[in-house]
Amino acid sequence: MEIKKTRIIATIGPASNTEETLTKMVKSGVNLIRLNFSHGDHKSHKELIRLVRSVSKKTNILVSIIQDLSGPKIRIGDFNKEKINLKKGSFFTLTTKECIGDEFIVFVNYSSLPKEVKKGSFILLDDGKKKLKVVSVSGDKIKCKVIVGGEIKGRRGVNIPGAYLEISSLTKKDKKDLIFGIEQDVDYIALSFVRKPSDILELRKILKNKNSKADIIAKVETHEAIENLDEIISVTDAVMVARGDLAVEMPPEDVPALQKKIVRKCNKVGKPVIVATQMLESMIKSPVPTRAEVSDVANSILDGADAVMLSEETAMGDYPVEVISLMSKVAVKTEVGYSERGILPKEECDLSKGVVDSISDSIVKIAREIDAKVIVALTESGFTARMISRHKPLQPIVVMTPKRKTAGKIILSFDCFPFIVRPFKQVSDVMEEVRSFVIKNKYAKKGDKIIIAAGVPFGKVGGTNMIMVQIV
Ligand code: PEP
Repeated sequence: MEIKKTRIIATIGPASNTEETLTKMVKSGVNLIRLNFSHGDHKSHKELIRLVRSVSKKTNILVSIIQDLSGPKIRIGDFNKEKINLKKGSFFTLTTKECIGDEFIVFVNYSSLPKEVKKGSFILLDDGKKKLKVVSVSGDKIKCKVIVGGEIKGRRGVNIPGAYLEISSLTKKDKKDLIFGIEQDVDYIALSFVRKPSDILELRKILKNKNSKADIIAKVETHEAIENLDEIISVTDAVMVARGDLAVEMPPEDVPALQKKIVRKCNKVGKPVIVATQMLESMIKSPVPTRAEVSDVANSILDGADAVMLSEETAMGDYPVEVISLMSKVAVKTEVGYSERGILPKEECDLSKGVVDSISDSIVKIAREIDAKVIVALTESGFTARMISRHKPLQPIVVMTPKRKTAGKIILSFDCFPFIVRPFKQVSDVMEEVRSFVIKNKYAKKGDKIIIAAGVPFGKVGGTNMIMVQIV
């Protein structure tokens, strides 16, 4: 089978937390595991991290870890029974005073909410499936009329489309979880409900103070994140199009075009971008996906996504291995057609005039013109590899780095295959290693052309400036 270039992220959960299942999933194409910190405690997460690392070691397949912080998800409290029925046209009150809810009232866990909504605002519950209209606000109570009702269980999410909430995107719980994640040396931290660049900078400061090398994934899922998209992309390391909440905060019909816009902006600057949520949702219960879901995965790859993500499909579903195999097959088939595109659209390249842009554009063009079999990026931070990967070249990118952490992170970038080498000072130090590696791993055979790219002097981040053509 052809090697897929698109990265697959699988959320681990009760359906996938055994060595047997996880091993099958990894062998079927998982590159990164997402730990969802909205569920579980540190003890259970520690056990999962140990399991992922052990499977990665036994299979000799690099699997990186994403810690997904729960963020300031606003939720209702519990009801006095499993679920209640919200009747259309009836009145229903949200209160910030703790109580057990019923058909008339329920607790909401954001104490400033009464100050931040007003008469006429809409409040959505349960992933946007129920809709309330604020009738009046008094003290801790928000009295609403039920516009769209139905059965609802406790602890469901609350969204206020269009609101500018004062809530910080790093909660007390997130900060505790983050310290745990740093101790566990996770590769990526995903920050939920990012609204502005300062949310990322606050997280970055903590990581720096704790000497953590983890990279940050900004989950774009609020209308404010969309308003501040360019600034957020410029300060984050990677982006997730978190379509679940995004399609509640924004009209769902806006999301497909937003997805394309976010992916394109990330591709342009070489920041890895993930498309997430409901990609193969029907496979939670069915061994086969819908046609629309298959197209969604393929179209996300064609948009330029570096990675596609599975949530409940692998965490809770009945087919955690089958869903990975299917996604891998869709990726491989789609990537064949991808070679038509090869590089970023011309107008995007014309915009960039810097050395890095010019060199990375050229690497991809030269590789194509001379029929090089592989592009080898020698890199400390992964920057050179990301700058090449954003063009989606025809050739695989072998990323040779002395840093284990860089290897763990570059795996999120399209078609990058990391390989850890001993520390080097100049290209000649590792030439022999490059040659024998590409031959041994069948990237090229004797007499083939390969391209070597680097930023020299080594160790200086952000300076891709060298192209070398070699015959192996
Ligand atoms: C989403 O909302 O699409 C998402 C990925 O976030 P979460 O699963 O944490 O709600």
